[in-house]
Amino acid sequence: MGGSIELRVSQQVDDWLNWLPRWRPGTHRGRSRLCRTCFGSPVIAAAGLATDVPHAVQHALAMRLKHLIDAEVDEFTETHLPLLLREIRLNEERKQAALTYRPAEGLDPAYTGLDLDPPAMPDAPYLFTFAELARPEASVALPVDPLPLTVEEKAAIRAEVTRADEHAALVGGRVCAELSRHRERMRSAVTEFAEPWVLALLADLDTALDSPLWPRGP
Ligand SMILES: [Zn+2]
Repeated sequence: MGGSIELRVSQQVDDWLNWLPRWRPGTHRGRSRLCRTCFGSPVIAAAGLATDVPHAVQHALAMRLKHLIDAEVDEFTETHLPLLLREIRLNEERKQAALTYRPAEGLDPAYTGLDLDPPAMPDAPYLFTFAELARPEASVALPVDPLPLTVEEKAAIRAEVTRADEHAALVGGRVCAELSRHRERMRSAVTEFAEPWVLALLADLDTALDSPLWPRGP
């Protein structure tokens, strides 16, 4: 990713503005819990979109900026935080190893110890076989658990985690400052492209509530 943070924020805003005219209110309803990306998000507040904006519209912007911030922090980690980077990679390798496909494991006793694949027809060879997927090479690559970390190593990693957090806060601050410079064009796009849909939905709701089944207030 190139360019300054400010430039990239501006590009993400452009991208979101291009997307907004195609937005339609979802027909699915009833999110059971608040969205952790959007609720109370300083990014949404800085964009001036915290109130009277449909969640899906907020979310589309918040996710774009979240990716931007994440990518920036990843880059910083790769360049400046070698210990943290190593921990993250080890963790990924462990997860990957846990996902390695072992078709011969966990089978019903009736099937254990049998050939994994029935014989192929001479004129119709398999594209792949379970036996190939279970090749020992695939599962040998289990990462050896490294030696336990010393107290000093743990402290050094914790210090790098703190630096990563500080960098994320710094980037987040710059993203918010830049976003607030785009408030006006974002707000007017919401007025133009999102509000008519919301008003139409509210009008529909009003008609439904106007039925004789609903007692009207005095
Ligand atoms: Zn959201």
